[in-house]
Amino acid sequence: IFAAVELAPRDPILGLNEAFNADTRSTKVNLGVGVYFDDNGKIPLLGAVRSAEKTRLEAAPPRGYQPIEGPVAYNSAVQNLLFGATSPIITEGRVVTAQALGGTGALRIGGDLLKRVVPGATVYISDPSWENHRAIFEAAGFPVDTYPYYNPETRGANAEAMLAKLNSLPAGSIIVLHACCHNPTGADLTEAQWAEVVKACAARGLIPFLDMAYQGFADGIEPDAVAVNLFSASGQSFFVSSSFSKSFSLYGERVGALSIVTQSQDETTRVLSQLKRVIRTNYSNPPIHGGAIVAAVLSTPALRQEWETELAGMRDRIRAMRTGLVEQLAARKVDQDFSFVIKQRGMFSYTGLTAAQVERMRAEFGIYAVGTGRICLAALNTKNVDYVADAIAAVIKA
Ligand code: PMP
Repeated sequence: IFAAVELAPRDPILGLNEAFNADTRSTKVNLGVGVYFDDNGKIPLLGAVRSAEKTRLEAAPPRGYQPIEGPVAYNSAVQNLLFGATSPIITEGRVVTAQALGGTGALRIGGDLLKRVVPGATVYISDPSWENHRAIFEAAGFPVDTYPYYNPETRGANAEAMLAKLNSLPAGSIIVLHACCHNPTGADLTEAQWAEVVKACAARGLIPFLDMAYQGFADGIEPDAVAVNLFSASGQSFFVSSSFSKSFSLYGERVGALSIVTQSQDETTRVLSQLKRVIRTNYSNPPIHGGAIVAAVLSTPALRQEWETELAGMRDRIRAMRTGLVEQLAARKVDQDFSFVIKQRGMFSYTGLTAAQVERMRAEFGIYAVGTGRICLAALNTKNVDYVADAIAAVIKA
């Protein structure tokens, strides 16, 4: 059966992890992976999560199957978080939400549903984007192309070029948008630029698909939903994938959701019926534990308060690391201005380091970054930021 099977290429980022794990240097630092670490270099287990788990363990609930789309309590907690509890989208029944296997699973069931609805469409992702965007939508059967997004000169978003492209696309094109904390660049659109994007999507009849993987990691839960709010207010139908991997530090529990905003309660019912077919033939129904924890935290006021404080703590620590790195580089008198790192948002920065510089950081310092120059700021801490600044200063000077 397998005689002619070719070896598939390794996932570039997971491959980096393997190399990092095999490195025996005690000073090694992994800036490659998209995971939030605390100041001790550990993945935190949030206090709110721990409390919700304790309560659940004591209640010892039975483990029957969940509804295909997940439980109402979880799905409505997700909707409230994304759209605000009083949003007309919710009160008018114009949104359907299904629990999904992380943000990745949400993108994939969304892709599979779209393939039934608009089989001839092309998907457009940002250039550059999270590598898995292309792979997911290609796996769902779509051709995937890009829209311009990043301006290496300003190290910011290139809204003008992006809008020019969106305004040239045929109706029914699927546009994947990073709702906040763009991965890999850290460059986000301003509110005014988002308003233009929303307008372009409406004018051209595009299908917006917002990927919300880092809500709360830029400015806060509500401000990070700016794109979602503008699309909601525009009256368009659109998709949102949510991930709670980062915001609840629940990576391996695979907690996410797909929300689809429609034009009416009747459309919602029909869309849900099709989405259930997609899920039923894929994994039948979602796992219980992670979703139950997130639902409990979001809807129990004391836990919700604790989570928001912990989320703010993660956000503030990343920001402090951004500032710390920039200060340390300035103290080393590097002749490049790195202040853009402070303006970028979320876990990542496109540093402008070349592939050769990234390779030198690995070989000489045991510091692992993605070949594109993307680093994860959430892997920096008060103990390694000096060392990382030393390494960056050394490789850009030579
Ligand atoms: N979208 C983006 C932009 C991401 O960066 C990630 C995670 N790295 C995901 C989606 C997927 O998240 P999850 O781990 O929840 O599948």
